[in-house]
Amino acid sequence: MTSVHQSATEGSGGLARASYRKKALPARRLLIGYVTVVSVIHLAVATGAVITTPARPAELLTFCALVACGAVCIEASRRLGMPAGVARDMLSAWWLPVALLLPPVYALIMPIPLQALLQARVRRTLLYRRMLVTSALGLAGACASYAFHSQVPGPLIGDVTWLTGSRGVIVLAVGCAALFTVVNIILVAIAAHGYAPEEGWREMFGTRETLLLDVVELCVGVLVTIACALSLGLLLLALPPVVLLQRSLLHQQLQAAARTDAKTGLLNAAAWQREADTELSRARRSGEPLALLLVDLDHFKRVNDTYGHLVGDQVLVGVATTLCNQLRDYDIVGRFGGEEFVVLVPGADTVEACRVAERLRGRVRRLAVPAEDGSVAVTVSIGVALLRVHGHDLIELLAAADLALYRAKESGRDRVCLPAAKRS
Ligand code: GH3
Ligand code: MG
Ligand code: MG
Repeated sequence: MTSVHQSATEGSGGLARASYRKKALPARRLLIGYVTVVSVIHLAVATGAVITTPARPAELLTFCALVACGAVCIEASRRLGMPAGVARDMLSAWWLPVALLLPPVYALIMPIPLQALLQARVRRTLLYRRMLVTSALGLAGACASYAFHSQVPGPLIGDVTWLTGSRGVIVLAVGCAALFTVVNIILVAIAAHGYAPEEGWREMFGTRETLLLDVVELCVGVLVTIACALSLGLLLLALPPVVLLQRSLLHQQLQAAARTDAKTGLLNAAAWQREADTELSRARRSGEPLALLLVDLDHFKRVNDTYGHLVGDQVLVGVATTLCNQLRDYDIVGRFGGEEFVVLVPGADTVEACRVAERLRGRVRRLAVPAEDGSVAVTVSIGVALLRVHGHDLIELLAAADLALYRAKESGRDRVCLPAAKRS
């Protein structure tokens, strides 16, 4: 299930600037207050449900079997490794049967042992972050459970006539699973929005890709629920494919994380170099022109010194987004160093490359990143190098663009330069 938004709940990471603290502390206090409220509601509802729900051996056994399956999945992901930012697991496959087949109390308490296991065995994260994830899952599971049981009264274990009797019950199960996902996402998104209000709600709710993965998890959860309702033994058949699916998802995410610069979401230097090399070989074979742009923020150190590193980071994200928005899908953009970006523009000759570079420079100039007292504006200097004109391979082109960038800085910044004597 989608884990809590990274930026919403990560700690201050040792950033010690006073201006950063001024902004971060109220937001963090607000976040901790929200987490406390959600956790207290979760614990109060769970305690009430434990007191009022009679313990039935068949339900307890099913609950323990599903917790054990979840624990096996967690152990499997531990072996593969789950770095920060990789937030996808397949634990919904085990939350959902608990929510749908067992009384709501089990959905309320299920996340507690599994999140404790994740914290102890896979990745230690800030306690309030883990508490929010636990309570959001518990409350979302309880909502789905109450909704399902209000239409299909239990007990649902052992007797499957409720499952085979009406086709509508599967639709209801899917609806309740969707409810589970939506409540969980909302509880987490409120925390993320409270911490970073400048980010839109759309980003909080994830991309099309993450929503698609939510749907996959939801479908797997419903299938496991049906298997579990038919016979507890069928869980043994469900476990290997779910573990395999989880491993392949993690593998995919680890691969993507290895290519990406975590701060800006652009390609990192190594991945950019690989992709640029491929494109360069193609341009050499076809004889097509190609340009390389080296983009460096002007006086960025001053931005950090004046507004703090957190605002500096937001400027980097803003510039990265601006670059992406202004380029075509097949242009290759990467973060090359701290405040340096690199763009490969296939098909661009000198005139086109300078036109693109000027457009990027102009757009970055218009960027206004919110800060404590107003907004921050930045400019960039851009060095441009052309295939065959200034170099024949990536190293030569990068060296030429670096020279051009140096000229742009020397001649006053906020401009585009070529390496040769002529200026754009
Ligand atoms: P110039 O116009 O000559 O490029 O000056 P500059 O200040 O941009 O360049 P300089 O190389 O002196 O400083 C770059 C600064 O970028 C220093 C460093 O603290 C900052 N920086 C590098 N990476 C990051 C980052 O990830 N986040 C933030 N906030 N700052 C960074
Ligand atoms: Mg700079
Ligand atoms: Mg630099």
